[in-house]
Amino acid sequence: MKKIREELQQFGLAATHPRSVILRCLRERKDHPDAETVYQTVHQEIPSLSIDTVYRTLNLFASSGLIVHLAMPTHRFRFDGGVEPHDHFLCTTCEQIVDIEPEENDHQVFSEKVAALGQILSLQRVYLGTCHACKKAI
Ligand SMILES: [Zn+2]
Repeated sequence: MKKIREELQQFGLAATHPRSVILRCLRERKDHPDAETVYQTVHQEIPSLSIDTVYRTLNLFASSGLIVHLAMPTHRFRFDGGVEPHDHFLCTTCEQIVDIEPEENDHQVFSEKVAALGQILSLQRVYLGTCHACKKAI
């Protein structure tokens, strides 16, 4: 928890207890939770925490660069506690999102055509498909 608090301070944010618990939740989970799921998890530890606070905190973290707001065609906004560049596989049936480690470090290389558009901050690549479990159920 000390590491989490230090991380918040490094990003210029006051390391309050709710923020620390929310950030720890994001760092521990690998399933790219939506705000509702984060709320369900942290609510057990801090019952007085409102869903509005969770939404605001997640957006604050995302705009600060502490977590990533995923650009995914899912019904709800999803968040990623892993900030190192990586790709994702999205099952369009169950909306499960799985990390894909890049084969090479090609996330920093942009074509001239892309670079001409402006300053590129990140590249989010998403593979859309159907996971094995959903494929079997069809
Ligand atoms: Zn991810």
